[in-house]
Amino acid sequence: MTNTGKIPKVDQTTRYDVLVVGAGLAGLRAALAVDPQLSCVVLSKVYPVRSHSVAAQGGINAALDAEDQWQHHAFDTIKGSDYLADQDAAEFMCEDAQRAVYEMEHWGTLFSRRPDGRIAQRSFGGQGYPRACYAADKTGRALYQTLFERAVARRIAVFEEFFVLSLVVAERRVAGVLAIEIASGRLIAIPARAVIFATGGAGMMYARTTNPYIATGDGLAIAYRAGVPLKDMEFVQFHPTTLPGMNVLITEGARGEGAYLLNAEHDRFMGRYAPKLMEVAPRDIVSRAIETEILEGRGFADAYVHLDLRHLGDDLIRHRLSEIYDFAITYRGINPVRDPVPVQPGQHYIMGGIATGIEGQTELAGLYAAGECAAVSVHGANRLGANSLLDTLVFGRQAGLAASRFCREAGQGPPIPEQHWQGWADRLADLRSHAGRDHYAPIRRQLRATMTDSVGTFRDAKHLAAARATLRALRDAYAHAGVTDSGTVFNYDLLAFVETGFLLDVAATVVEGALLREESRGAHWRRDYPARDDEKFLKHFLFTWSAEGPVVGEAPVVVTHYQPKPRTY
Ligand SMILES: Cc1cc2nc3c(=O)[nH]c(=O)nc-3n(C[C@H](O)[C@H](O)[C@H](O)COP(=O)(O)OP(=O)(O)OC[C@H]3O[C@@H](n4cnc5c(N)ncnc54)[C@H](O)[C@@H]3O)c2cc1C
Repeated sequence: MTNTGKIPKVDQTTRYDVLVVGAGLAGLRAALAVDPQLSCVVLSKVYPVRSHSVAAQGGINAALDAEDQWQHHAFDTIKGSDYLADQDAAEFMCEDAQRAVYEMEHWGTLFSRRPDGRIAQRSFGGQGYPRACYAADKTGRALYQTLFERAVARRIAVFEEFFVLSLVVAERRVAGVLAIEIASGRLIAIPARAVIFATGGAGMMYARTTNPYIATGDGLAIAYRAGVPLKDMEFVQFHPTTLPGMNVLITEGARGEGAYLLNAEHDRFMGRYAPKLMEVAPRDIVSRAIETEILEGRGFADAYVHLDLRHLGDDLIRHRLSEIYDFAITYRGINPVRDPVPVQPGQHYIMGGIATGIEGQTELAGLYAAGECAAVSVHGANRLGANSLLDTLVFGRQAGLAASRFCREAGQGPPIPEQHWQGWADRLADLRSHAGRDHYAPIRRQLRATMTDSVGTFRDAKHLAAARATLRALRDAYAHAGVTDSGTVFNYDLLAFVETGFLLDVAATVVEGALLREESRGAHWRRDYPARDDEKFLKHFLFTWSAEGPVVGEAPVVVTHYQPKPRTY
């Protein structure tokens, strides 16, 4: 591998109509919705099946039964969101859910079945009816397989292992993206009329997370840097049940099937926090309950409680929860048929994201976003389990349809201006030729520790202000940091450096929103403001990039049929 200190020449590739960034469920569903007459390409920084969607376990919500109705699903979603969801968007998603699930079934998804052949459904947190459709505890994989096969059959081109660095904006609309071909280090500018971001979450901001290493908030940071506002960033979901150590997820489906949470005193403590729904209360409530048990000394020594599945029986555990059965044995050496499983909360999902409307449209003409990187907002202050897979399919499709309409109406996009890629080319060349500067890894570690310690389940002004100061110091340190690998071929050191910059930008918006929101709502719990305050805070925060840090604006919450009420379970 040679280090010339220079970046290879920037190539301009074919011009596309629609360019999708992200090959998870949202990205593939978007690509499949693009008008086949238009040219479309999907970019992914990893081989597509390594997208996090494939790891989804427990289910996807839809009101399918005659006794259930989409309006009930919408109400549960809105109440679950602590009334911060835009109700028109939540209604749209829940009404479209039945179509989305049956479409997947007709396309070939092998859902688990009831004895009469209908799609099996299980209870999930905060739902008044068992409406999570599932394929054992491998629902994401089953859905993904279906979309992947369809994308192959449609001959949708996927550029895999292409890392998008930035969004190109010219003449106040999208002109394309700038990306690195990871295998060669080649920088390429890809012109497109419309771009759809489906880049997933940002769990790597936190030390304890169920998310994979690739969940670094790239799409959020890239859109934000291009002037597109992010929304509701202070709302970060902590999943109640992850295995201590690697924080591998134990699906909510386990509690949906009837597993109990027990503290070190063998007390089924959820009765004190959510007497009606117990273990299947929404995630924010269960996570706080577990943390409280641990903080008040009723947990086990290494900060965990027990999830007891034993009474569910060997057959159910091995067949309907086979993946977590394997995980518990592989990662903790515990057989859940015989022993309770240690669990603790861990970061799992971000409710916030690129601010979009119901069609996936953003403030920037030609830019759309869908899936976990977008905030429509259907999840508000707390997402209900099994609503994210639904969100990816419903709003992925919406974004694909809307981007196609945009292409037909908006004409050819502007060319990519040379000064855009020159800035990145210079920066990357500089990093490669100065290998040996202080490495970014300690910055990333400190960021993750700070977020977990001070911006987690429980928050207060003092810790948040300290986190903000730490993040600013990390930002300054990052400006002078570097990499050790000076090569061009598969330089993951360089990519992780870039991702760390993305994480720092995204984390700054989380902390800013958490400081400003002086109330407790959904997953955002302020010890110093423990009540919800609708008068002051029934609104979204919007975060716009500036050199000094996020500038915060506001947007109203759309209320259609459901007036905010106290949220008890
Ligand atoms: C362990 C686990 C279990 C879950 N279980 C459930 C469940 O049962 N039900 C449910 O509803 N939800 C579940 N969720 C949440 C849900 O799976 C995710 O929110 C959802 O799948 C996200 O899909 P996505 O398409 O938005 O992004 P992802 O599937 O995360 O895909 C992101 C894509 O973006 C690409 N990308 C990112 N950055 C770049 C870049 N810079 N350049 C190029 N490409 C890039 C990646 O390569 C990837 O292809 C679970 C989440 C986890 C972590």
